[in-house]
Amino acid sequence: MTAVTAARATGQALERAEAAGLNATLAWSNTALEAEAARVDSMPVPGPLHRLPVAIKDNICTAEQPTTCGSKLLEGYHSPYSATVVDRLRAAGAMVACKTNLDEFGMGSSTEHSAFGRVKHPLAPERVPGGSSGGSAVLVAVGAVPMALGSDTGGSVRQPAAFCGVVGVKPTYGRVSRYGLVAFGSSLDCVSVFGKTVSDAESLLWAVAGHDWRDATSVDRPIPDRAPARTTLEGVTIGVPVEYFPADLDAGIGAGCQAVIARMRELGARVVQVLLPHTRYAVPTYYIVAPAEAASNLARFDGGRYGARRGPHADIAALYQGTRGHGFGAEVRRRILTGTYVLSAGYAEAYYVKAQSVRARIAADFTAVFAGGVDCLFTPTTPTPAFAAGDKIQDPVAMYLADIFVCPASLAGIPALSLPIGRTKGLPIGGQLMAPMFEEASMLGIAKLLERSLDGSAEVVR
Ligand code: GLN
Repeated sequence: MTAVTAARATGQALERAEAAGLNATLAWSNTALEAEAARVDSMPVPGPLHRLPVAIKDNICTAEQPTTCGSKLLEGYHSPYSATVVDRLRAAGAMVACKTNLDEFGMGSSTEHSAFGRVKHPLAPERVPGGSSGGSAVLVAVGAVPMALGSDTGGSVRQPAAFCGVVGVKPTYGRVSRYGLVAFGSSLDCVSVFGKTVSDAESLLWAVAGHDWRDATSVDRPIPDRAPARTTLEGVTIGVPVEYFPADLDAGIGAGCQAVIARMRELGARVVQVLLPHTRYAVPTYYIVAPAEAASNLARFDGGRYGARRGPHADIAALYQGTRGHGFGAEVRRRILTGTYVLSAGYAEAYYVKAQSVRARIAADFTAVFAGGVDCLFTPTTPTPAFAAGDKIQDPVAMYLADIFVCPASLAGIPALSLPIGRTKGLPIGGQLMAPMFEEASMLGIAKLLERSLDGSAEVVR
């Protein structure tokens, strides 16, 4: 098979996804795909992602396609350069398949907050696929691409991976360059990966990871070898934090997680209950820190430097108001207002500064359990399976609580992944693993064994 054949098959799969009304793709074309294929076929040495089509969340800059961030404000915007991760995956022999739909600027948990319409769940079209990287998750779930890039600031790859029944991996903060990722919460943003399997996600992760002088927070550490094929969990200690199994946890998800815990024991793991006592502050802390950083990052979309201009050019304040008032959707405006408030004189001490100290305690909880001998934590990824479209859109706090199990790892900067562990009432369930900083390889090794030992698409018997 040549890359041209692979590109055609990808184009047909994207057409089918569109015909089904999933609304997962933004910019793509068969012509661009064929150009990618020709480039790959002319590479002298096949790379580690040879001929693989990769879908890219539309908040990651690509010089060839527009980059909209799911916002009216950036409609038709063309970045003059590609993100480091895009350059790297192309250098590894992959083909850029398409840009994918997302919650505007990555803000949301359902991919309903896109200026270009909501994305549908692949198995239940009246439900949401999760978010904000919903388009990428859906394209992997329907098999249009084996892997995709997303961004995970507070769960935006792991949560949609769980809802759609695919693998989603957030690396350690700093492991992957953010150069060319449109900034949301700079101290939290991680370019992250989806795969049909753990091994697919791992291949993409290691192809794009590594130090980049253009991102000052990117870390100069060697890329580890691929996770070894484990056959047992002998010698592995798995921590199960009680805070992640509340009384109102969805019963199917609870049963699914208990079945995985039992399986891990059979595989030889030592499973211990642990405490992460600051967990309950994670959502409020995240929803102070992330909007504060977003308010600052999104200041550049003013019609002067970036953004489709609206309003009189002669009056700068009116130009800003016109551009931002017209271009930003309701959720983005809510974040900017919240972020500006928590940073404002007189309130910053009470909100932003306090949130930073709580963030340090949340991170310290993780440090303590890992120092106590836990190799990896296991939890549900989400408190419920995919919810119905329209369910939470009018209630921001209900939407924010969808991130309750995923945002702690984001605040702590540690690696975490979501893995399909079964289904409940026909909907996928995700199990989450979290590991110490830079321990992605051992986390992926455990995930691969679990993937082999479980039927990720089986209905959980209760
Ligand atoms: N759902 C979270 C939010 O709305 C996380 C977003 C993300 O990770 N990009 O902020």
